[in-house]
Amino acid sequence: RIDSNASGSYVFYDNEMDQHIAGRLYLESGMLRALHLNEFFLLYQPKIEIASGRIIAAEALIRWAHPTKGTISPLEFIPIAEETGLILQIDSWVLDTACAQARLWQDAGITPFRIAVNVSAREFSADLPDRITQALQAHEISAAWLELEITESMLMRNTESVIKIMGQITALGVSLSLDDFGTGYSSLSYLKRFPIETLKIDRSFIRGIPEDQDDCAIAGAIISMAKQLKHKVIAEGVENHQQLNFLKKVGCDEIQGYLFSHPVDADEFKQLLSRDFRVRFE
Ligand code: C2E
Ligand code: MG
Ligand code: MG
Ligand code: MG
Repeated sequence: RIDSNASGSYVFYDNEMDQHIAGRLYLESGMLRALHLNEFFLLYQPKIEIASGRIIAAEALIRWAHPTKGTISPLEFIPIAEETGLILQIDSWVLDTACAQARLWQDAGITPFRIAVNVSAREFSADLPDRITQALQAHEISAAWLELEITESMLMRNTESVIKIMGQITALGVSLSLDDFGTGYSSLSYLKRFPIETLKIDRSFIRGIPEDQDDCAIAGAIISMAKQLKHKVIAEGVENHQQLNFLKKVGCDEIQGYLFSHPVDADEFKQLLSRDFRVRFE
């Protein structure tokens, strides 16, 4: 099929593309309903401190329990939500739900730990500090419960206002970490301008360790430079002991990945908390 678009040039479609567009529209219209009908839910994946072998944080990861398609991955719907603007409401829901969960864990007598929430670049607007304050107050939890994972693309935009918003967030007592580090364009020296506590090395650099000499060199270099600049470092996507041993050797602080746990629901996470992971470090 050939359609003429508004500018008079021709656009070629094939069946696959039609299906792709139909699939998108389907997800797009479903997301608003999902928010109202509470079809989203959070899983939690532990972050483990290498030195102590203990869980020191949980990353909240969204899932969509779709009534007919089953569980949908955020990789499928977050990019669409970012384009349509619905991400603002979704990320607010995540922030609120994570704070509500923190309150439940605190009420259950669990020692506070950080819950890390992913924030889309689009979400990083001037009212974010206020929305964080509101979520913390609504559930009566301390800011120490909360960490935000942001991406490098955020550092590239409108820097002065981004620095100001980050300053307001960290002043509340919420910590910031830089997700998927190494995949964007920010240099470590550029990072000095931002109040970022932790760098999270992207999984793509962890995957090839220890065979891939380049991955080893990149991960090792990020860790040693980050430490000199007083950032903490976490590696994501750690799946085996060889990766763990390498990261331990080069001084990585924290670890997250299937080696310790997949993302799990709040009840399972509570059980993981009582476990000591030190044995797995040997
Ligand atoms: P991310 O923040 O970089 O999260 C890490 C992803 O890697 C998660 O995928 C996690 O399940 C997966 N993962 C963890 N350990 C391993 C491992 O050992 N091996 C492998 N192969 N994968 C591992 P997930 O949950 O599908 O999330 C994908 C992305 O979607 C996230 O990447 C994040 O960018 C985005 N996302 C998830 N939840 C939210 C949310 O609530 N809000 C926003 N804005 N984005 C979210
Ligand atoms: Mg993340
Ligand atoms: Mg990540
Ligand atoms: Mg990632």
